[in-house]
Amino acid sequence: MTEPRMLSGDRPTGRLHLGHYVGSLANRIRLHRSYQSYFIIADLHMLTTRNTREDIAATAGLARDMVLDSLAAGLEPEHSVFYLQSAIPEVAEISVLIQSLITVPRLERVPSLKEMARAAGIGEMPYALLGYPVLQAADILGIRADAVPVGRDNAPHVEIAREVARRFNHLYGPTLPVPALVPAATPSLVGTDGRGKMSKTAGNAIYLSDSADEVRRKVARMYTDPQRVRVDMPGTVEGNPVFAYHDEFNGDRAEVAALKRRYLAGTVGDVEVKERLAAAVNRFLDPMRERRARFEASGGLVEDLIVTGTRRARREVQRTVTDMRRAMGLTAVFSQLREGAHRADGAHRADGAHPAGHARQISGADGI
Ligand code: ATP
Ligand code: MG
Repeated sequence: MTEPRMLSGDRPTGRLHLGHYVGSLANRIRLHRSYQSYFIIADLHMLTTRNTREDIAATAGLARDMVLDSLAAGLEPEHSVFYLQSAIPEVAEISVLIQSLITVPRLERVPSLKEMARAAGIGEMPYALLGYPVLQAADILGIRADAVPVGRDNAPHVEIAREVARRFNHLYGPTLPVPALVPAATPSLVGTDGRGKMSKTAGNAIYLSDSADEVRRKVARMYTDPQRVRVDMPGTVEGNPVFAYHDEFNGDRAEVAALKRRYLAGTVGDVEVKERLAAAVNRFLDPMRERRARFEASGGLVEDLIVTGTRRARREVQRTVTDMRRAMGLTAVFSQLREGAHRADGAHRADGAHPAGHARQISGADGI
């Protein structure tokens, strides 16, 4: 029995933040040693909302940052295969092979796509964005992943990959594993402004690479209970982002329980609650800072991991495409034609005749 496989990853659109951590990184780190773990740098997916030459030129640097963030957060290089999606053309081929297995109305019902178009300021849905889950299915099925840890907004995409795998196996015979979704313990982390989820574009993120000072500044400005104008007023803990972060990142559970009690009773100020939160977040990030410094010091290591990982992932995806083409009967189609061509060639040679002028013209024109 081979180890089960995991696939997860991100678009190289910026540094990773605490929202990414709770949404997918935490699961990746928890599981990656017990799986063959593949982590995609989804630069083709980035093209769905960012496709200028400048956007593309920034990818190498962003890919490096993303992998460095992941290593700093706790993914071990010896247990992780990082790869660049666009360097594996067979991913695009799989995406074409599975296109007929899903309908447009099914894709139009995926809630995250409209949200992504809106967030990117795109009025009409690009074809590529509608096909985002199809390309993601190609990533997942190409690696033959058994498990896919993703955040809440990405879960419907994994469901599409499952549907596609089932339909493929039904039509062409058992070929692809049906991947399981690994949901996050905390589906979504609120931003520091309390206005919805933490995200790069909303400017409400604490990054894994933020310095201790940046963390203190961001936490000091955090949105808290707006009704509470005096320290001695009882405050609200439920739905308060400061306490949501305490729950998530403060390992000192006794301190969190005491702070909540005092907040509800009106015996602790927001300043103290936030100072303790900043300290807790920094305790959480400190080991990441140490690991980051170590990986940064070994120059070229991150790039080397991506290049080696891409070669390895490509071999896997190539194997899958071969299996898929064979299962579909596509391989046989061209083989039959080739055999016919050989027969014609042989027959002409036996006759001492030249192939028909027309055929010669075509083959000359195509260079095949
Ligand atoms: P952008 O602002 O450019 O949309 P972002 O910060 O929202 O960026 P994405 O690249 O959209 O980050 O997110 C990638 C994945 O990370 C999402 O599919 C989701 O699973 C997870 N994720 C992002 N933000 C959060 C969050 N605040 N809480 C939980 N998961 C998150
Ligand atoms: Mg987003």
